[in-house]
Amino acid sequence: METKTKKEGGKFALNEYDIIIIGGGVAGMSAAIEAKRNGINNIIILEREDDLGGILNQCIHADYSMEGYEVKLTGPEYAQILIDKVEELNIEYKLNTMVLEIKDDRSIVAVNDKEGIINIKTKAIILATGCSEMPKGDMNILYNGCAGIYTVGAVQKFVNIEGVLPGKEVVILGSGDIGLIIARRMILEGANVKLIVEYMDQPRGLKKNVIDCIEAFDIPLKLNSTVIDIYGKDRIEGVTIGQVDNEGEIIEGTEEYVKCDTLLLSVDLVPEIELLTNLETDIHTENCLTPENRYSEMEAKGIFVCGNALYIHEEINSIYEESKAVGKKAVSYVEEKFGNNM
Ligand SMILES: Cc1cc2nc3c(=O)[nH]c(=O)nc-3n(C[C@H](O)[C@H](O)[C@H](O)COP(=O)(O)OP(=O)(O)OC[C@H]3O[C@@H](n4cnc5c(N)ncnc54)[C@H](O)[C@@H]3O)c2cc1C
Repeated sequence: METKTKKEGGKFALNEYDIIIIGGGVAGMSAAIEAKRNGINNIIILEREDDLGGILNQCIHADYSMEGYEVKLTGPEYAQILIDKVEELNIEYKLNTMVLEIKDDRSIVAVNDKEGIINIKTKAIILATGCSEMPKGDMNILYNGCAGIYTVGAVQKFVNIEGVLPGKEVVILGSGDIGLIIARRMILEGANVKLIVEYMDQPRGLKKNVIDCIEAFDIPLKLNSTVIDIYGKDRIEGVTIGQVDNEGEIIEGTEEYVKCDTLLLSVDLVPEIELLTNLETDIHTENCLTPENRYSEMEAKGIFVCGNALYIHEEINSIYEESKAVGKKAVSYVEEKFGNNM
């Protein structure tokens, strides 16, 4: 099917695609590649950043395995293999293009700096928008808005992509994998990671990351503990930490002041599904027991979800495999629904 483009009032371009993929991370690219291999030519990936690859672009440690490769790959190397396939298959993509809305008729409103607002029609949508870090407001620690408090994902981007070290004396709240990996990176870049504070009675990250990051770099870890107070006027100057009991209450007398200029929050990751919230469907229903069946109602309307937008994955290769299956599902939907009109 050929791509149609027409000008509406000289301002909006209207295009039509068989499948639109929102998000060009590992999930979006894998789904697109599989859709193309299964016979649908008229597809496009829309990506808000200026590169395909998604979060992988900031994961620069060599920790990713891929079938056919004997050595571990860095995130950008893993991403590049998929980008090369996207190019090889001539899959169309638009960068710097932010999708703002999915309408009930499946049309999409996006924006970029060259074309302005773009309206695109499509037969099926694959949402591969990844996840977000739960914002600071949810941490329930009072503070006056001073600088020096970041989420670990934001700091991974500062350090690994922008080449900026946001602080020297670091406390990390939470011991999830991204926090452990960034703790090691900050030490390698010259910072002093003074402490990792974890609310639970054991580290949350994978054993491998505990050994490679905490133990190998001798980073002090305080379990059953949390940050109680944050001090500093313009910039953070220190935190008080304390131990928690079984009920999550602070144990009196365990409070301890730790001087620091940076507090990193290794917070929860949540699927980025903002674009689905105005559609007529009950995606948050309690009855949706598994992520796979959560969107069955939407799939019947031609909207598919994959990668971390579906649920938070621990393993990148499962995103790759599952997203390929979603790409195939979208192709079947388009073929069954629209048959020869493709
Ligand atoms: C912060 C973070 C750090 C991680 N670090 C590591 C690590 O160090 N080591 C490790 O092994 N694993 C790490 N992971 C895990 C793993 O790399 C990811 O789970 C995986 O790459 C996610 O793939 P994805 O395609 O689902 O999402 P993403 O890679 O996040 O891709 C989603 C894409 O969608 C785009 N997008 C979102 N909304 C829109 C929109 N409205 N319009 C257009 N585009 C949009 C985004 O720009 C992004 O490119 C990390 C995950 C996160 C969230």
